[in-house]
Amino acid sequence: MRTTRTTGWTGPAQYIGGRYQDGSGTEQLTVTEPATGAALTSYPVATAADVDHAVRAARAAFPAWAGASPSERSSALGRLAAELHHIADDLALTETRQAGKPIRLTRQFDVPGSIDNVEFFAATARQLEGKAAGEYSPDHTSSIRREPLGVIGSIAPWNYPLQMAVWKILPAVAAGNTIVLKPSELTPLTSLMLAEAATRADIPAGVVNIVTGPGQTVGQALVGHDDVDMVSFTGSTQVGLSIARAAAGKRLHLELGGKAPFLVFDDADLEAAVHGAVAGSLINTGQDCTAATRAYIQRPLFERFLSRTAELMASVRLGDPLDPETDQGPLISTVQRQRVAAFVDRARSDGAKVLHGGDAPGGALAGAPYYRPTLITGVPQDSEIVQSEIFGPVLVVLPFDTDDEGLALADDTPYGLAASAWTSDVYRAQRAGRELRAGCVWINDHIPIISEMPHGGYKASGYGKDMSAYAFDEYTNVKHVMSDITGVARKPWHRTIFSDRSA
Ligand code: NAD
Repeated sequence: MRTTRTTGWTGPAQYIGGRYQDGSGTEQLTVTEPATGAALTSYPVATAADVDHAVRAARAAFPAWAGASPSERSSALGRLAAELHHIADDLALTETRQAGKPIRLTRQFDVPGSIDNVEFFAATARQLEGKAAGEYSPDHTSSIRREPLGVIGSIAPWNYPLQMAVWKILPAVAAGNTIVLKPSELTPLTSLMLAEAATRADIPAGVVNIVTGPGQTVGQALVGHDDVDMVSFTGSTQVGLSIARAAAGKRLHLELGGKAPFLVFDDADLEAAVHGAVAGSLINTGQDCTAATRAYIQRPLFERFLSRTAELMASVRLGDPLDPETDQGPLISTVQRQRVAAFVDRARSDGAKVLHGGDAPGGALAGAPYYRPTLITGVPQDSEIVQSEIFGPVLVVLPFDTDDEGLALADDTPYGLAASAWTSDVYRAQRAGRELRAGCVWINDHIPIISEMPHGGYKASGYGKDMSAYAFDEYTNVKHVMSDITGVARKPWHRTIFSDRSA
């Protein structure tokens, strides 16, 4: 049953200095509900002046927030987690409406996963790590200070709006930085709700600021702002490269695109692999940077894997994302569906066999950007559909013969965000974990993430880590303080300048 409740978002679209602000923009953007095409809300986008206002608010809040004790920051973030628990259902509903995600996904994955991340960083705020202070030289005591960087400018995508906002904001503020986040212009609402919750949690004004609008204007103004100390970006590889140029001279953290391989050896549990491939390729309608996109199946299992995967894909229910029975929702927009369909159509005209899907559903779903689960084979490794990120519900399946060949094919794209290997042989599993060039390698699973463990890429998938203590480290500078403990005026090393003169 479709609920008629509206979103939990209450204000205008800029959240600066602990409150909603109208901003100075006049250009309007509309947040559209992908499943219905209805306008959820329209908002005036930020201008460069609004971005500057937000950066100044973050700068003003920095000294006190950086100077708060770890336990004070930890308590504040703990209160934020409590606030989020309180509005969890509104967050799930708003996320589902603005992004078209099935409500089962937002209630069971996006929202609880985000809150768990907040709780993790509330705890991590108190765990500053470094080498032990000591006399590494006989004449000095060395100590390590781990210090926040200042103002962070962050930019996030639309596929997991709340989670991406949390992944960017929490490690940064737990470490004592302040932040200005620009969510995707398509899905700003849950990031704004998160900032509102931060204020209710008594996180000081200016620590968390949100500016909204398109990347080319608002994003560029943020990335290029002189008073932003670090830029942290999650999005496509193409935009990430342009951000790397625009942010030259600043500390940079890039979480970019993916094209995850799914490598099935001939001793794998076939049913487990087929279920993993269907769930792992269709999660969030395939709009997941770690989604299984290329399945390589060792020859003895190849035909059975294909037929069973097609059978299981046929059981996936497309429908209204607000209906708890729905397995797969629409894509984010008609533009995204055109993009996905164009990839499949080009592959088809180059000779690909489309064994399931490859088109939009008709009937009641025809008016919205749905695309059926799609299973493709019969394409060469160097084809576009194997090499490029599609970001839709499309799985390409290809055979391999030897283990060496399978591992080489899995690594053969520009990307390296995630990969999985399926086998019951411990040596094959260990080899895959060791040799696959990706930031995460799953063995006999594909997709799960956990707050304690890092997420980040190799190769064109970027660098730096989200989640875990490694993300916390990204947002700190390590300072070495070296104190003389001899009190002598003429140090032994001065002889490099004075030779043996007694000056
Ligand atoms: P995108 O790169 O088009 O946009 C991401 C963000 O960048 C948006 O907020 C957008 O407004 C902004 N932006 C666009 N152009 C900009 C510019 N010139 N300057 C500054 N900001 C700009 O990506 P998307 O379509 O929103 O999201 C999908 C992409 O994100 C996929 O490639 C996916 O793999 C990637 N992604 C990666 C991860 C990860 O952890 N590695 C996680 C989620 C999504």
